[in-house]
Amino acid sequence: MTQSASGTEHPHPDVDPHLGQILVTHEAIQQRIAELGKEITVDYAGRAPLLIAVLKGAIMFMADIARAISLPVELDFMAVSSYGTATKTSGVVRIVKDLDIDLTGRDVIIVEDIVDSGLTLNYLRKNLAARHPASLEVCALLLKEGMQKVEPDLRYVGFRLPDEFVVGYGLDVAERYRNLDDLRVYVGPGSGH
Ligand code: 5GP
Repeated sequence: MTQSASGTEHPHPDVDPHLGQILVTHEAIQQRIAELGKEITVDYAGRAPLLIAVLKGAIMFMADIARAISLPVELDFMAVSSYGTATKTSGVVRIVKDLDIDLTGRDVIIVEDIVDSGLTLNYLRKNLAARHPASLEVCALLLKEGMQKVEPDLRYVGFRLPDEFVVGYGLDVAERYRNLDDLRVYVGPGSGH
């Protein structure tokens, strides 16, 4: 059963005209996350890193990367609202839900879904660094190549992408498409396609 995007049922990815090509398959995502998890396990051996994700885009990545790390990790979440259009952030960020865990002396890894302009991450990094963690690194699943004014300081990167607006694996347009397994190009209204 398939309905339009305005219907209550999620359209099937194969017939939704707003979905373009698959950029990264679910299998490729899982394979890369396994590699990143092993790297982090080695790099943080003997420590208990605190993974911080920003709701909601990073939820799928958080769930998978946390299980790919063989260390006693802890998880915490923040919610921010950024001002901007549907497909562009402005860099002005307001914290809607703050962390529960104190960062003092912790080895913090920010788990990011996607770095586009880098403005959101820039804000987040400054905000978290001010809370005196022992270390602060970033693990980003996706990096849009050449879109940042300054080279972002990312310790771990899953995939480098061209400048396409993507959905799936946690990433949305107006809250839709987060539950798609694959990462796909969005070619619907507002995408510029
Ligand atoms: P930045 O501040 O780096 O420009 O944007 C970061 C945030 O914008 C991401 O955390 C994500 O929420 C959103 N974003 C950036 N690019 C995309 C994209 O291609 N697709 C989706 N769905 N969201 C994106």
